[in-house]
This record gives sequence, structure tokens and C-alpha cells, in this order.
Amino acid sequence: MSINKESYKSIAAELGDDVTLVAVSKTKPVEDILELYTLGHRDFGENYVQELVSKQEQLPKDIRWHFIGHLQSNKVKFIAPFVHLIHGVDSFKLLKEINKNGERSNRTINCLVQVHIAREETKFGLDENELNELVINLVSHPMKHVNLLGLMGMASLTENMDTVRAEFRRLRNLYDQLQNSIPVAFRIKFQILSMGMSGDFKVAIEEGSNMVRIGSLIFGDRNQGT
Ligand SMILES: *Cc1c(COP(=O)(O)O)cnc(C)c1O
Repeated sequence: MSINKESYKSIAAELGDDVTLVAVSKTKPVEDILELYTLGHRDFGENYVQELVSKQEQLPKDIRWHFIGHLQSNKVKFIAPFVHLIHGVDSFKLLKEINKNGERSNRTINCLVQVHIAREETKFGLDENELNELVINLVSHPMKHVNLLGLMGMASLTENMDTVRAEFRRLRNLYDQLQNSIPVAFRIKFQILSMGMSGDFKVAIEEGSNMVRIGSLIFGDRNQGT
């Protein structure tokens, strides 16, 4: 129940200033998060609303909390007052709910749209058409309390790095296309490409990622299925 400081330091050094490291602390105790916090780390990622809310209450208030799981509309209200970035937006309905709760909390909430790039059916996210539809919808119905900052995706769970690379490259292309086609007012904020985890972050960075979400390499293995 202790973090791997050496691994953290070498990843942080490797990423440098151009790639944001989100330390994925899901299922890990607040003591582990504090250990990393003490080293100066501030960006942490969580997948479950209740767990995130409970940790946020217990931990220092300058932590930037990233919600990286699948977010249900009826749970937005619990994280809206403090969340730094929601990575997994996958519907216009959810975006509207985020906007509504942002207004209530008097905040503008940063969001990424999740794109489905993996072969597995089970992974969440939009396909290319749904993504374009959502962005067109947002551009024509601007939301004052939502900042659309970019895209997020997860590659297939495979050892085959050619497959993984091709999937990341596809996401990068979608990101570039959108950046070139959206109105300037949106484009200036559209600058985050969140892709890469413990097993594939190096490939993700080679393919243009500027935000990686790393759990097990820093905090150690989780139990199966999480
Ligand atoms: C758990 C999780 C991660 C981190 O996974 P590791 O393989 O432990 O680095 C990253 N992104 C998402 C969306 C996750 O659910």
C-alpha cells in the first residue's frame, strides 16, 4: 500500500512539461494520494463518483480532480462543484446536464468527449459520426458553463502495439480535423488529447497525446476488474 516513487519520477521526467500526467488513484487509499501530493503532484484521476467525492472531502483542496469514468447524468451534481476535468462525455444530454450543474455551482466545467477507438464493444465513447454530431450541436447551442477542451480515448487491451498505435493515430486525426473545422471561439480552447495508460502511454505520446492517465505504474496493481 505504498506508491512506486521511482516509477513516478521517471515517468514525470520522461513526460516533461508538454504532457500532463493524470495519476489514476481509483481504488487506492487517500494515504497513497497524499504521498504523491507531497512530491508535488496535483492531477489525480478517479472513475467512481462516490469514491471521488469522498476523497475530495478528505484531501487538500488544491488537487485537480479528473473524472475519467463513465458519468451518469444523475450523478453530475455531486462532482460539479469541484471537478477539474470530465474526460468521458459521451452524449449531448450529459453535456446539457453538466452545463446546468455548472450554472448552479457558478462554474464553467472543463470537458473532453470520449471517442470509441478500441475493438472491444464494451468500451464507452462515441463513433466518428456521433462525435461530429455532438460538436455541431454544441457549436449551434453554445453552453456558458461548459468548456469543451478536447478528446479522450482508450485503445484496445492488447499486446499488439501496431493495433494500439493505429487506434491512437485515428483519434489524433479526428482531433486535428475537429480543431481545423470548429469556429475560432471553440478552437482556442480545444487543445487536450487525453490518451495513453500504463501499458501504452509511450505509443500514445508518439502519436500526439498531451495528457496521459496512469494508474498501476504509479500506485501498483489493482484487483482484477477495476
Ligand atoms: C483505470 C484507468 C486508467 C489507468 O489505467 P492503468 O492501466 O492502471 O494505468 C486510465 N484511464 C481510464 C479511463 C481508466 O479507467
